[in-house]
Amino acid sequence: MSHNLNIASIRNDFPILNEVVNGKQLVYFDNAATTQKPRLVLDALAGYYEHYNANIHRGIHHLAEKATSAFEQSRKRLQAFLNAEHSEEIIFTYGTTDGINLVASAYGRKFLKEGDEVIISTMEHHSNIVPWQMLCEEKGCILKVIPINDEGELLMDEYEKLLTERTKFVSVVHVSNALGTINPIKEIIAKAHAVGAKVLIDGAQASSHIQINVQDLDCDFYSLSLHKIYGPTGMGILYGKRDLLNAMPPYRGGGEMIKEVTFAKTTYNELPYKFEAGTPNIADVVAAKFALDYVDALGKPNIAAYENELLAYATEAVKEIEGLRIIGQAKEKVSVLSFVIDGIHHQDIGVLLDQQGIAVRTGHHCTQPLMNRFNITGTSRASFAVYNTTEEIDKLIQGLHKVKRMLG
Ligand code: PMP
Repeated sequence: MSHNLNIASIRNDFPILNEVVNGKQLVYFDNAATTQKPRLVLDALAGYYEHYNANIHRGIHHLAEKATSAFEQSRKRLQAFLNAEHSEEIIFTYGTTDGINLVASAYGRKFLKEGDEVIISTMEHHSNIVPWQMLCEEKGCILKVIPINDEGELLMDEYEKLLTERTKFVSVVHVSNALGTINPIKEIIAKAHAVGAKVLIDGAQASSHIQINVQDLDCDFYSLSLHKIYGPTGMGILYGKRDLLNAMPPYRGGGEMIKEVTFAKTTYNELPYKFEAGTPNIADVVAAKFALDYVDALGKPNIAAYENELLAYATEAVKEIEGLRIIGQAKEKVSVLSFVIDGIHHQDIGVLLDQQGIAVRTGHHCTQPLMNRFNITGTSRASFAVYNTTEEIDKLIQGLHKVKRMLG
């Protein structure tokens, strides 16, 4: 697959790429943690605060109406982005973590009972482990874990063996942040549905690389963060099937999520507001639309094709670093290169690369059980986005040679 992107022009859209770090031009390879934001997203944020900052839904004045309209346009934009059937299936959250907690809490507490089983996988981010552990502890449910192979791929046969009539919920990551593995979620969802279980997909890492179609996937819930898709921090969305969302109790109580409040009884608002208590991150929601417009203008297949080129280039290039081992060699993976180097601590690699202006992430990447599976305490991770280049990867390789010379 080839792309038709003008990378030099794309780089110009991201002002932060001109930053100088430790005397060197910034090389930003920490995109799996958060992507940088294009100028039009920054302008949208400033434009909101400069021209129509107001609280939404409750006001009748001009600014409130303008802010409400922009906020709801973002919802429609996200509906299209995921191909959801109804706009009220898009719930604004504070991010992937918040969406998963919403489902574990509101769906889990109402519909799961003692002895029921929840399945997650070995490669989950802590945000898709801990909420389910908390639920299982509270309700007396059993948490089961799909194992993986040494390449970092789910063992689908083992998954099938875990599925029983007691399985009530399956919650798996679409793309692993620590390995880059793309999981076969359509198959995972179909198999879970065959035993009557509901499925949540943690889409935090997938949504910037892969076209998501929630109707085709038939997932019950899909949670993501906009800050990983060139959008602002502090906001994300939870997609949920309308019937399920309607059947769930609210997650948080407060303003906006109610129909009528008396001291005797409160009735709840309709979707999506039932799940949106309090004042949301209005500016960030409004600006998120522009991030999605940006991504769609480039075209996700183009972005993926280019990022795959970068990944292939980097995967080949790191072979010249003696003692370097890639963690996560799945056949299907996104542009995440996680690695360890014999005898050198990942944190030292991160510090020395930073001295050369190169930003990578080091540590357990909020996936401690996954690190345990590979008998390591952490990795160094370079994760590539559409504005990265092969020249930057060359700098990474030079940087790693320097690390080896100093510490190897
Ligand atoms: N799941 C995965 C796979 C992630 O990579 C992340 C972010 N690192 C999260 C969940 C949590 O996302 P957030 O911190 O935006 O809530």
